[in-house]
This record gives sequence, structure tokens and C-alpha cells, in this order.
Amino acid sequence: KKIAKAYKVEPVIPEAVSSPVLYLELARIFDKIEAISSRLDIQAIFTKFLRQILQFAPQDLPAAIYMACNSVAPAYECVELGIGDSLLITAIAEAYGSRDKVIKDKYEDVGDLGLVAQSAKSKQRTLGFGMKPKPLVMSQVLQVFREIANITGNASRKLKIDKIKKLLVAVQDSAETKYIIRGLQGKLRIGLAQSTVLISLGHALMMTIPATVVFTTSKEEEEESEENASPDPIVAALRDESLPVEKTLEAAANMIRKVYSEVPSFDALLDAAIKVPLMDLPKACHFLPGIPVEPMLAKPTKSIQEVLKRLNGQEFTCEFKYDGERAQIHKTSDGKLKVFSRNLLETTGKYPEVPQFVQEAARASMDSQEGSSKSAVTVESFVMDAEVVAFNRETGQLVPFQVLSTRKKTEESAETAKVQVIVQAFDLMYLNGESLLGKTLKTRRSLLHKHFAPVEGKFQFATSLDHTEDGDTMVLEQFLDMAVKGQCEGLMVKTMDDVYEPSRRSLNWLKLKKDYLDGLGDSFDLVPIGAYHGRGKRTGVYGAYLLACYDEDSEEYQSVCKIGTGFSDEDLQTLSASLNQHKLEGGKASNYIVTDQLKCDVWFDAVQVWEVKAADLSKSSAHRGAFGKLEEDRGIGLRFPRFERLRDDKSPEQATNSDQILDMYYNQDTVKGQNNNDMDDD
Ligand code: ATP
Repeated sequence: KKIAKAYKVEPVIPEAVSSPVLYLELARIFDKIEAISSRLDIQAIFTKFLRQILQFAPQDLPAAIYMACNSVAPAYECVELGIGDSLLITAIAEAYGSRDKVIKDKYEDVGDLGLVAQSAKSKQRTLGFGMKPKPLVMSQVLQVFREIANITGNASRKLKIDKIKKLLVAVQDSAETKYIIRGLQGKLRIGLAQSTVLISLGHALMMTIPATVVFTTSKEEEEESEENASPDPIVAALRDESLPVEKTLEAAANMIRKVYSEVPSFDALLDAAIKVPLMDLPKACHFLPGIPVEPMLAKPTKSIQEVLKRLNGQEFTCEFKYDGERAQIHKTSDGKLKVFSRNLLETTGKYPEVPQFVQEAARASMDSQEGSSKSAVTVESFVMDAEVVAFNRETGQLVPFQVLSTRKKTEESAETAKVQVIVQAFDLMYLNGESLLGKTLKTRRSLLHKHFAPVEGKFQFATSLDHTEDGDTMVLEQFLDMAVKGQCEGLMVKTMDDVYEPSRRSLNWLKLKKDYLDGLGDSFDLVPIGAYHGRGKRTGVYGAYLLACYDEDSEEYQSVCKIGTGFSDEDLQTLSASLNQHKLEGGKASNYIVTDQLKCDVWFDAVQVWEVKAADLSKSSAHRGAFGKLEEDRGIGLRFPRFERLRDDKSPEQATNSDQILDMYYNQDTVKGQNNNDMDDD
């Protein structure tokens, strides 16, 4: 009863959904969302829809969430939709009695294949006889999407077309056609981002108790939990009945975000969410080996003095910042090992030797303990955070990232791979059935060092230097020099008494990169959203690109610079070719914030992330970075940007965000010293 009261449950909703939910009901919600731009309104519409589902058809919640996020499986399973246009054109033409050429020409005109299909469906003559197909059910459409995404092999084109045609023929309303096609393309384009979906889910769960929730808390348990008041501030906020509704809803959204960052799988999250009250969700759905956790991130800093000031007397350690690829290594209790990237994609195929290296490290630790009086504990299951770095076995030296980037996506074995690697481990988040996320770095690191041991040329711990006297900059400077001489990018400085914070760019981890000392502190990871045709030597490829940062609140891409330098001839060729597959036919996307003076010849879908260096950041009338956050009518732009490399371990939503741009702008000496001339740029 107490929990129900805390939930602030509201009465039943008037226009309920059917059970099972029809795809048409989802399409109508998508139509409503597409017609508005206010994020709060979108959130309210989607929350209401989810509440109805929770109340009347909780079994359909996963389908609604996956469809809204335009995905069919958790990211780490690497099952993607993104069906090619030509295949969809054939399916539309065959389903609605048209010809490929007609559909293709219209697509070139309209620029949105969903709309073209919708109009083909509307124009199709309906005959008044024959059996009407059954209406499409939302979960059934998701199931077919999944099947389509999983079809491979020679006959795959025909099989996919057949399945898509069946869906298109069964639709009752042309709105369904529009979203089936856009969904299969992987471009829903209604302005509903995953972050809004998560907030709406939190709100809906807070305001509605699904019929499936079982309140198991016994009187004793309740009393016990009151005595040991939970230290988790989100749970405490959800339990606090005196909080205003807005605060409770904020806590509900934070709860979903937190659990999702620990377990980024809607299957696991929603299965638990419809069974237990929201405040018990962390108990029912928590981090386990097999599902990658969102990695903890660091804030950039520009000098040792800044690091010391920020840490302000806290105990800390400095570790070498290795220049390789982040690897989250999991061992499940059934003995299987998997490696995941920064982006949570599985990279075991790229680094087949890594599981073996880590197993050897665990065995080496057992061997070294055997002789000692301590009883050795076998490592049954674990999750480790590490950097995989290119390594020269002959010289015993680390090799720069450029070499690692030539590794193939799938390597048969370490013996046949051209580039050899070593694992540099720096954290342990799970061990033998227990999550270590809530333990301090001190504890996590000592467990890492206890249960694993270095293996020459295969596995090492990150070289570290623990807390030095406050203000002892000399020692830190020498350590930074050592890191750079050892082919590292600089240092990671970490507080010892803090917990592992999944997906947080935390002040408890600071990065200090040698290249950026006293400059901007870091490079930028930006999204190419448009391009300009090249001339002269660059005829036939794009001569310059328009890059954008990502604004998480508005889910917009804001232009921050035009870039034309730093590209090799080969880069120009490969980038043009790969981005040409993602051209937007109908002009720029509605969530691209670009001024008229920067009109591109071609616009692209947001699909890539590029690392870029720049001289500084300035206020700009031409660009829209952090628009409205610094000045009402001007944004922030990058000056003298230079292309560094393609970041295929980051998704566009993980690009440098507008708050980071703003932070870095304020952190510049010219701005700190109030000496900033408004350098209006191109
Ligand atoms: P971010 O991950 O902060 O968005 P980024 O992907 O551009 O930025 P960097 O700025 O290079 O990455 O810094 C963080 C990365 O440094 C980590 O994701 C990890 O791959 C790497 N790294 C190397 N050594 C360490 C270490 N000792 N501790 C933590 N991370 C390390």
C-alpha cells in the first residue's frame, strides 16, 4: 500500500489501447509526435501511450520501446535494420502494383521513401471483395523486422522482399506503410530519441502500476529496509512521499537511465520493470557478465595544476593513458569470454587472442598464490575494463594507435593477424558473482591485482603512480613524460575512493593529454552532416565538410565548423565513398541546426564520428554549437579544425556534446582572462 501511495498512481486512462496493441495505434502516436517539435510535448504523448500499454497490454511494452528506438535488439547483439533503398523500392512497387522506376523517381523528388510508399498505398485501388487481411499487431511487426534483420545468404534479397511485401499488403492505413518503410531503413525521423523514450518509460512506470507487478515486500522486509535506509539517493527520492510530483518523476527517469546504463538491454530491463515496483528495479535488473555496461568516461584537463586543483586534496592515482581501443572483457559463469568496445559492440572477433591472454593472467595469479599461505580463489566470472594496444613482440614496445587501426574487423587468430596486441588492464567491475560497481577504485584495483597477474607480452596492469604530496607537480610531470615516451597519450587521473559510474563523464576521472596541455584540453569527436563539392585537385570527391556537435537535450546536431584540412588523398576518397551511401535526398534533416550561410551541396544522415583537432573555440554567428547557452543569437565554432581520424568506436549520439563545447570554451585562457575578442569566423 505504501509503495502504491508513493507511486502517485493516477486513474485509468480514457482512450485505452487494444490488447495486443495494433501497429496502427503505434503509427498514430508516431504521426502525433512527428507533427510537433517540443520535446516536453513529445515526452508527454509517449508517456501516455506507454501508460496505456502498461495498464492494458504490458506484454507489448518491449515492442513499443524497440519500435520507438528503431531497433530490434540490444546494440551489443549487432543486429541492425538499415535495409537498402533499392530492395525497399522493389518491395513497395510489387506490393502496391507499381514499377521500381516510378517509385525511385518519386523518391528522388520527395526525398522520403516512407512518404512515397504511403502515397503509393493511398493510391492503390481497393477492391470491395475478397478477404481483408487481419490488422497488423505491433509485436508481430517487430518480430518480422527481427527476422528480416537476421536474414543472410545468397537468397536473402528475395526472402527479405517477400517478408516486407507481406507487411505492406496487410496494412490497413497508409500511416502504417510510412513507418514500416522508415523503420526498415533505420530512419524513423519523427524526432523521438532514445533519451526521451527512457524518460517517458520512467514517468509511465511511476504513474502506473502494471497489472503484472508483484509486491513481495513482507512487513519484516519493509521494516528492515526502513531501518537500513537505502544509501541510493534515487531510491530514497522515490520512497520520499513528501517530494513534489516533478521531483518524483525526475527520480523515476533517473532510475531508468541508471539501470539502463548498467544493463543496456531493453529485454532485461522491461522484463523486470513489469514485474517489480520501480524502486525495486535495481534489485531485479542489475549488471551481470554477458551484457556490457556503459563505460565510465573522463573529463579533459589542460594542466597538472588544474588536475590538482580539481582533486582538491583527495587521494588519487595517475595511470598511463594508453592509445589503443577500449575493451570490456566479460567472463560468464558458464566459462564463455567476450570482448566489447567503447560503443558496446562485440569485438571478440577482432581480438580473438584477448580472452586467452586474460585467462592466462588469471592462471598466472593462481600459480603465484599456490606457494603462498593464502588460499587461491578461482576466477569463475568477471568483467574487466582494459585498453587493447598494438604491441611489437620483438622490441617489447607499445605501438601507436594508427597501427592498431589497421587490424581487420575479424581476425582468425593472433598468429595470422599482422598487428599483435597486448591487454593493459585498469579496472575490475565484477568478480565471482558480485558486482563491484559500488566499490571504491581502491578495492576494485586491489581485487584486479589479486586475481590476475602480468603475462609477458600479453597482459599488463596500467602503469600507475599513487597519490603524491599535494602540489608535487614535479613528480607528476616526470610521470607524464614517462607515459608519453612509452607511446601513451598522457595520463588518466582517478580518485581512489569513488565508485564506478557507468556512462558518466565524471570528475572522478580526469584525462590529461600531452598534445593538449595548455591548449583546448582535448580533441573533438564530431559528426559530418553535409559536404561541399571539391574543385581542382579535389574534383570528384568532397572538398570540405560541415561538422556538428550533438545537443543531448534537444537531440539536435549543431554545426560547429567547416573542415577541409588534415585529409590524405586516400581519406578524401574513402570518406566521400562511404558518406555517399548516406546522402539525404530531401535536403538537411530537421534536427540539423545550421545557418543559411553554410548551405551544403549535399547533406548526410548522421552516421559517422570524426576526431578533429582545433586551435580554439570562438563565438560565432555562422555556427550553432551550444546555441542559446552562451548567447541568445550566436553559437560556438571551432577555429582551424584539422581532421585526425574516423572514430568507428563511437556512435553519433556519443559525439562531443554541446555542454562539452561550452565547458571547453569557458576553459580557454583567453576566455578566462576575459580577453576574448569575438573572432567571428567563416
Ligand atoms: P571519451 O571516451 O571520454 O568520450 P574518447 O573516446 O575520445 O573520449 P579519450 O579522450 O581518448 O577517449 O579518453 C578516454 C579513453 O582512454 C577510454 O575510453 C579508454 O579507451 C582510454 N584509456 C587508456 N588508458 C586508460 C586508463 N588507464 N584508464 C581509463 N581509460 C583509459
